[in-house]
Amino acid sequence: MQDADMNDMGFGTRAIHAGVTPEPVTGAIMTPIFQTSTYVQPAVGKPNGHYDYGRTANPTRETLEANVAALESGTRAMAFASGLAAIEAVVKLLSAGDHVVSEENTYGGTTRMFTRVLSRLGIEFSYVDSRDPHTVAAAIRPETKLVHVETPTNPMMRVCDIRALADLAHGADALLCVDNTFASPYNQRPLELGADISVHSSTKYMNGHSDVIGGLLAVKDEELWDELMFLRKSTGAVPGPLDCFLTLRGLKTLHVRMERHNRNGLAVARWLEGHPNVDRVIYPGLESHPQHALAASQMSGFTGMVSADVGTLERAKAFTENTRLFSLAESLGGVESLISVPALMTHASVPEDLRAEMGVTPGLVRLSVGIEDEQDLIADLKTVLGPKDS
Ligand SMILES: *Cc1c(COP(=O)(O)O)cnc(C)c1O
Repeated sequence: MQDADMNDMGFGTRAIHAGVTPEPVTGAIMTPIFQTSTYVQPAVGKPNGHYDYGRTANPTRETLEANVAALESGTRAMAFASGLAAIEAVVKLLSAGDHVVSEENTYGGTTRMFTRVLSRLGIEFSYVDSRDPHTVAAAIRPETKLVHVETPTNPMMRVCDIRALADLAHGADALLCVDNTFASPYNQRPLELGADISVHSSTKYMNGHSDVIGGLLAVKDEELWDELMFLRKSTGAVPGPLDCFLTLRGLKTLHVRMERHNRNGLAVARWLEGHPNVDRVIYPGLESHPQHALAASQMSGFTGMVSADVGTLERAKAFTENTRLFSLAESLGGVESLISVPALMTHASVPEDLRAEMGVTPGLVRLSVGIEDEQDLIADLKTVLGPKDS
């Protein structure tokens, strides 16, 4: 269905139908995988519509993009070969001499790309704790063109105020880009809150089945989309048609999956909180989260991402190596539950003092709570951590 017909419909209806039309030749209800690199042209210099070459245009990819635009309340979306490729495209809107203010607790790969790759090209970065808008304001300079944040962050679940940061960025003529990977548009839609770009590692909740590496971004502004399209066409980080098909298929159940992730995440966080072998639970959906009120004002659910500190590295290892349903692995957002020790896994490349400063202690365990049955997940945790006595 076309976007205009869909605006008044619910999120789940849009997840299934937005941007999706039956294939015109056969009426196939599922978008075909257009596994082709090029298109035959009827005459010299006269391609079939805009279909001239696969890096520039692919119908499977375009269907995915139309769907994502509707889910993020944007006008346009764009798919990439990975989440990092999507974020890289955003920063490449800038030129040498421009400045970026970035949240300091972003995904480790994002920090690595900023500090070790893009900073070599003459783009400057400042890293701040974006929970406090004043800190962001203080870091903005005349050359600042982009404010890049993540909310909630990984693995500390810091939350930043998207509305306040959008006002700040716009006051400085800069763009606000929000990495919405942890929340998914089911729970949080940054563009509705004033952000200019919502970016995703679709590897996580968007695809949701741990079988694709991909990136997505959504925008409201057509001119910004044109610039990003030019960048993607010119730098080449497009996803393959099969990956687009799989992600589109994943999105058809985003609302159903997220509902269950939200429910299971909250149940696991509540069970872990107050457990005698757990020192601290970090989950924006718990009242004990220092930014619970802010989180509740911009999110409608709190996902399946839960962090818990069990005190020491030995206990974190014993915990994560002995669960049965929670598999020890990096990544997140799939239907199956995963568990990891950030200090030794996802955040191993972050210097120890910086890790400590951010609260990524050796005893911190990160759970990506899947959509299995709640009682089985709790039973699995209970086998390893022992019963919760109250
Ligand atoms: C995984 C992740 C990324 C990077 O995405 P890839 O698809 O692995 O390139 C970026 N941001 C966040 C928050 C992530 O979790």
